[in-house]
Amino acid sequence: MPIIHLDMDYFFGACEELRHPEFKGRPLVVGTSPEKDKHKGVVQTCNYEARAFGIRSGMPTAQAFKLHADLVYLQEDYDYYDGMSRKVHDLLRGYNFPIEQMSIDEFAIDLGSMGYEEAERLSGEIKGRIRKELGLPCTIGISCGKVFAKMVCDDAKPDGLKTVREDEVREFLSEKGVGKLPGIGKKTEERLHEIGIEKIGDIAKANVIELMDRFGIFGKEMYELANGIDESKVIEKYDVLSIGREATLDEPTRDAVKINSKLSELAHTVKEEVDKKGFTFKTIGVKVRFQDFTEKVKSRSLQNYSNSEELMYRTAVDMIAALIGGKEEYVRKVGVRVSSFSGGKGQKRLF
Ligand SMILES: [Mg+2]
Repeated sequence: MPIIHLDMDYFFGACEELRHPEFKGRPLVVGTSPEKDKHKGVVQTCNYEARAFGIRSGMPTAQAFKLHADLVYLQEDYDYYDGMSRKVHDLLRGYNFPIEQMSIDEFAIDLGSMGYEEAERLSGEIKGRIRKELGLPCTIGISCGKVFAKMVCDDAKPDGLKTVREDEVREFLSEKGVGKLPGIGKKTEERLHEIGIEKIGDIAKANVIELMDRFGIFGKEMYELANGIDESKVIEKYDVLSIGREATLDEPTRDAVKINSKLSELAHTVKEEVDKKGFTFKTIGVKVRFQDFTEKVKSRSLQNYSNSEELMYRTAVDMIAALIGGKEEYVRKVGVRVSSFSGGKGQKRLF
């Protein structure tokens, strides 16, 4: 039953402090522009010392320097953070529970039938290992659903560990503002305020039919969440038995020609890997990371096993186009992956 939500604390900033210990304890921001144009960009992350001056991520860097002139400024380094993220993922995978990577620095883990006490002990161990072996701080929330675990985690930040069991969830939620419920953005929040609903506890007591009239199916979802029902599941996005490659684009873009040429390279490399193992595959998956660091994945199963590079490429192009279509951000990175294998040169498992 328990689900863990693990979120790295001020991730980019913490990664930078790790390789620049001389900056530790000083207010630090990681921004989007190069050092020489640092006032032009946006703050990506800031450490807690910087937050004490009112600096927040998403703020123009120029404004951050107005709040505190003596800031340490570093330009973001995606590949480095991505490598650190993979180390966290590898450490977590060692525990053999289903893991869903929600973003570069957030993971949901399904602990199955484990009891809450054991879940808390294990979470403490994971948190300690990430600190000791990788040198990074994180916060863990434990609850009875993926959405609730994330909210508990947000509540326990930074460097926290907190559990809210199913019989405590309604109370945990009731006094929070409706905007704290994942999925409720500014607009929905305003519309809820218009009908006198301020707290999540008010949603729990509202008329579900009325909520559905106003918000459609999401009205029902928010009603259920507010009443302590969270059916979201941890979904492993990629099969463990898969072969895939990812690559960062030369520059963030939405240009299909550039994106497809990268997909073509990736499909070629993946195909070589697949051939080396003597596999055929039945599932093709893609991943796209946008400039705001959100990620989307999609996969498609074929009718029959295949080892066609052309098919892999065309399917990837199709799925990537669908993923990009729903969003306005520039694309940073794409990935191609195949799974559900058959065949193999006397080899049953890849790991
Ligand atoms: Mg984080």
